[in-house]
Amino acid sequence: MGTEPVRWMMMGRGEPLVPVKFEVETPGRDEVLVEIAGCGVCHTDLGYYYDGVRTKHELPLTLGHEISGHVVDTGASALWWIDRAVIVPAVIPCGHCDACRRGKATICPNQKMPGNDIHGGFATHIIVPAQGLCEVDEHRLAAAGIELADLSVIADAVTTPYQAVVQAGVKAGDLVVVNGVGGVGGYAAQIATAFGGTVIAIDVNDDKLATIAGQGAAVTFSARHMPPRELKAAITGFAKEHGLRQSEWIIFECSGTREGQETAFSLLNHGATLCVVGFTMDKVEIRLSNLMAFHARAIGNWGCPPELYPQALELVLNGRIKVAPFVEKHPLREINQVFEAAHAGALKRRAVLVPAN
Ligand SMILES: [Zn+2]
Ligand SMILES: [Zn+2]
Repeated sequence: MGTEPVRWMMMGRGEPLVPVKFEVETPGRDEVLVEIAGCGVCHTDLGYYYDGVRTKHELPLTLGHEISGHVVDTGASALWWIDRAVIVPAVIPCGHCDACRRGKATICPNQKMPGNDIHGGFATHIIVPAQGLCEVDEHRLAAAGIELADLSVIADAVTTPYQAVVQAGVKAGDLVVVNGVGGVGGYAAQIATAFGGTVIAIDVNDDKLATIAGQGAAVTFSARHMPPRELKAAITGFAKEHGLRQSEWIIFECSGTREGQETAFSLLNHGATLCVVGFTMDKVEIRLSNLMAFHARAIGNWGCPPELYPQALELVLNGRIKVAPFVEKHPLREINQVFEAAHAGALKRRAVLVPAN
């Protein structure tokens, strides 16, 4: 084991995260010990830390649920995993309850989410169930010029919109709107493009729009300069110009803000699908009956079933999804500064905390 095991623990809301040394236990029969390569900082972590969203495990708790690393020890039933590079799913289902058996792993009542149900990834090591781990081929990774730490974001920022795109049934010829193209929406836009959709990106941040314009979005609009009614007219105009449908738009709300959710809802048209990918504690005022009047639907998804992870990873390894332009790596020991910067909106990319640095 290269490094002395340390966890950065949340003691209380908004209190500085504290490094705590700990003894690594022996993994249970079906568990593995992962030496962490990187752990992404998610909006959800900030929600626990700043906004009083309750974690299921009581405090103190190590946050972080976007984890990649190497398996360095295993239980007796998980020997196959030793020395392999892996991505740990953000939501680890039990694999044998009624929901799991019916293919509804994301609503498994026995699920474990690192940094919520169990200690998370802002640490050097973590013990997790082997169930659902996603193996990474390190030869292909090296050939693609990507670091294992970069892949941590697949555990949520990539797979959550991946599941949303699969669930919405995006296919060639679809007009797709992605509202909010930061850490999650940037991937939603690329995934929807890979599935054949024509993607219109909306954000309030011009830098984020510029980044996604070079990575798959067909056109970008700034919600800072255009009210919702104008946005809808602009998208209608774009659809007309490009021979795309004036109905059945597929809208991904990834901003996780009240304004963003209101904007996304206002873009509904006949047969539209609204996918709620981002999260906010704020409430919105909307006319819910528009779903009925437009024969539209609104759907959400809690993470992504582990069986879809290899498909999402494949899109990264074959270059259809670019990860690197959307992440920035920081040493784990700078976690408090990184949280502050992320909370203040001062980061242009998704932060990945790296223990080894
Ligand atoms: Zn997350
Ligand atoms: Zn289950």
